[in-house]
Amino acid sequence: MRSLLSSFLSVFFALLFLACGTPSSEAPVAVMVLVPVEKANGRHVFEPQKKQLTTLSDISKLEGSVSTFIGGARMDENSPKIDTATSLEELKQAYFPKKGGSVRAQFIEKNGVLWPADFHSWAMTTAYWNLEQAFFYFQEVYGAKDTKELLNIPTYYWLDHIPEDEKESSKDNAFYHNFRLMAVLPFKDFQTIPMSINIGVMAHEYAHFVFDTRVHRADPSSPSHSRSDPHVVGTPRFIMDAINEGLADFHAYGVTRRIGQGNPNFLAWTLDEKEAKKRDFTDRSKCGAALEHVNIYTVGTLFAASFYQAAMERNMFDEMAQYLVNAYDSDVLGKPGIRQHYIHNNAHPQNITLESVANVFLAHIDDEELRVRTCNQMLDRLEFNREALTNCPVRSVRNRECQ
Ligand SMILES: [Zn+2]
Repeated sequence: MRSLLSSFLSVFFALLFLACGTPSSEAPVAVMVLVPVEKANGRHVFEPQKKQLTTLSDISKLEGSVSTFIGGARMDENSPKIDTATSLEELKQAYFPKKGGSVRAQFIEKNGVLWPADFHSWAMTTAYWNLEQAFFYFQEVYGAKDTKELLNIPTYYWLDHIPEDEKESSKDNAFYHNFRLMAVLPFKDFQTIPMSINIGVMAHEYAHFVFDTRVHRADPSSPSHSRSDPHVVGTPRFIMDAINEGLADFHAYGVTRRIGQGNPNFLAWTLDEKEAKKRDFTDRSKCGAALEHVNIYTVGTLFAASFYQAAMERNMFDEMAQYLVNAYDSDVLGKPGIRQHYIHNNAHPQNITLESVANVFLAHIDDEELRVRTCNQMLDRLEFNREALTNCPVRSVRNRECQ
């Protein structure tokens, strides 16, 4: 009986494998993924398109040099063991009561192109392609710098996540965690498209990974990740997180732009229009005075708006992206990056202000006209004191667009 069953099963799986084609492990692999396509009315619709995955080593496991997918894991941010952990290893164990394992994507081969065979396979394959595009974008932004540090980030797919804050959703979300991992939570309520399929969202999370890598060396014990650090307006943690959020939106737009579907309002593909509007950094009326509730996103959006508007005025988006990433970590003498500024002043948190951080970025904008425009934008939108922006050229003035 047993051998009959096992031979039945092996025939069944052999058939299944045949039906699903034999996915080639050789990159590049031609696959169908869901991508945003702009229609005549200016709106984007997600459509299946043939794309190449160029960094995969095993397509069924979605395993490659950019990311490796892991399924079946549980992350518990409320585990009582977190506060008693004495090493990084113990801390990781406390966070992950279930470590999970390889995923299994299924494909059907048609004329040399792999079509994902079910919902999860579509979602995972598209998410991998999204991360690959984000990596390629940052590879260009890095220029001559080595991008090895941006490879091999695991993606916890359909993660069973117990958030620290009960108000936070354990569904319909995607995030970067400073354990150097990406997480995609189960989809439940969305009428639109899931986070992992939204290239803007995945690129936003990947941009957090880049920031964390450059600024904090992706070290979970960095003080800016400390759970005990109060997340209140004006603290270094608030300022760093605000900048991080604004820049993540800026670069996510850059990734959509790089695939020829630029849309600064990519959040509206997934969130409702009203939520997305709050983070719309192309809205020229977004200014500090209009803020009712200051949080890391509103402040971050004003930074993103300043960088974006100045870059657009000069038609220098790519250069701006490079200047900003150069400013994350700098070994140029006399020109500290955000990392150096943060480390140097960590013992004197009062030295880390929105203006001081703005000055670090301004110092890295080599094109003087672009620096003037960025200063003008910041003076307007963030209502900075002119004297506090020591790295602004003399001719910088308020645009007075924000009155
Ligand atoms: Zn974010």
